[in-house]
Amino acid sequence: MHNPVIDILNDVYEQCRPDTAGAVADYIPELSRVDPDSFGICLATTDGFVYEIGNVGTEFTIQSISKPFTYGLALADRGVAAVAARIDVEPSGEPFNEISLDPDTERPRNPMINAGAIAAAGLVVGDSAEHRFERVRQCYSRYAGRQLAVDEAVYSSEAVTGHRNRAIGHMLRSFGVVDDADAAVDLYFRQCSLIVTGRDLAAMAVTLANNGRHPLTGELALAPELVERVLSVMTTCGMYDAAGAWVTSVGLPAKSGVGGGVLAVLPGQLGIAVHSPRLDEHGNSVRGVQACGELSRRLELHFLHVP
Ligand code: GLN
Repeated sequence: MHNPVIDILNDVYEQCRPDTAGAVADYIPELSRVDPDSFGICLATTDGFVYEIGNVGTEFTIQSISKPFTYGLALADRGVAAVAARIDVEPSGEPFNEISLDPDTERPRNPMINAGAIAAAGLVVGDSAEHRFERVRQCYSRYAGRQLAVDEAVYSSEAVTGHRNRAIGHMLRSFGVVDDADAAVDLYFRQCSLIVTGRDLAAMAVTLANNGRHPLTGELALAPELVERVLSVMTTCGMYDAAGAWVTSVGLPAKSGVGGGVLAVLPGQLGIAVHSPRLDEHGNSVRGVQACGELSRRLELHFLHVP
């Protein structure tokens, strides 16, 4: 059956495909082994339809797209006030890996940069490191609608080379934002190494769009009253120091990762995932940003768009 959404997806895919600008992340050595040309777009709706084109079954690591999901888990575990006492919700305008705290509040500015994400990982409840990670893995799996696993090679690669994140962890410890720096950073590395596909990310995005409930499995991944807070920080902070340009051109809460994934959410309606590993200077997927911009324009998805 002819479907206009599929036509638009095809058009956008063909339009963006020739663009080979940007470079694959290599500061985590194992990430440089991915296929730079892989490109897939997946769009899932809250009423259960899934549209896809390209390499939507290719596996890659979730990286920073993990941040909103762990933040949501920390909110559920500790409550909004306790989390807010340690992590603010202000855009930082800084790169994702900035070694920074707000000098006035002595908190990370938001949970989408590494400092705030490591702080959020430190707030996940559990009896042991294994238990805490298992809770994170189960949480993401509820969003994805299938069991997710860790890429051990990527995890080890980041664990061996992630000195900057360790520095952030110890800075957080010195200000009392985390209680155990090594545990928080290690949990953060593990969550970043969970393997997803474009299809998984679209499911995770549409679960947020569907007020925290996976449209097909019916499982609740996040309480509806917390979804709004997660989507709010994604809107203002999800694309780091390109957040302003993103909101202007795409107008959707979103999150990117250096594995090349981008996830965007239209609340109540749909989730979009793009995977393309070449990144721009902010660490955002070049074709991911471009494809989301085109989809937003063609499907009139900008949240400020007046039909
Ligand atoms: N694990 C990566 C890091 O902390 C994630 C960064 C990202 O995806 N922007 O450096």
